[in-house]
Amino acid sequence: MLDAKAIVTIDGPSGAGKSTISRGLAAKLHFTYLDTGAMYRAVGLALKRQSIDPADTASLKKCLAAIELTLVAPDGDDDVRVLLNGEDVSQAIRTPEMGLVASRVSANPLVREKLTALQRQLGEKGGIVAEGRDMGTVVFPGAACKFFLNASAEERARRRQKQLAEKGQTVEYQEIMDQISKRDYDDSRRQLAPLKPAVDAILVDSSSMDPEAVIDCMLASIAKSAR
Ligand code: C5P
Repeated sequence: MLDAKAIVTIDGPSGAGKSTISRGLAAKLHFTYLDTGAMYRAVGLALKRQSIDPADTASLKKCLAAIELTLVAPDGDDDVRVLLNGEDVSQAIRTPEMGLVASRVSANPLVREKLTALQRQLGEKGGIVAEGRDMGTVVFPGAACKFFLNASAEERARRRQKQLAEKGQTVEYQEIMDQISKRDYDDSRRQLAPLKPAVDAILVDSSSMDPEAVIDCMLASIAKSAR
């Protein structure tokens, strides 16, 4: 099938199911799952806690230099655990508000530079399924297989609401819809590493597919491309 050192990328807008699919696909391939959105969220949290305005370059550089991020693979279906300078911030970063904060800081070139380097370092040995917005376009342009996962905005908002409810967070559908639309807009229109499919990405619309069907579809594409 795939070389054990291969890299598979899954990009797409928020709520398209990237985390569930990337985790499931990584398990099937015996690969490591790299959640790069969690990294932007953790950096956003660090900047927010220290009230650093990303436009203040000197403070931003100092803060970024002091950030140490560790991703810990979870058992089973849990989210990846994220340690920010040793502190487990996994729960704190997974709120709708932190999604918007992450989106804001992710447009900053210094933030992207730091996280792109770290992501490449984590992917150095291969055997990863990397999930994000610019995995196939910028971070791992030579990836063996690239997917762009999408779903209708309504379906994405519904899924996100369910996901948050499972974590005990009650958020109105319309509020989620507004946040998703804002993030899609900002992520697609920013100058640096905007959200867009790589020219050689396989487009998958998961609106009417369950996660198992999406994973099977991707495995079939991977098998075909490895032939
Ligand atoms: O995927 P997730 O919702 O956790 O990502 C949070 C935000 O981080 C996104 O809205 C996007 O702005 C940013 N991000 C990015 N590049 C990535 C992953 C996430 O800019 N590779």
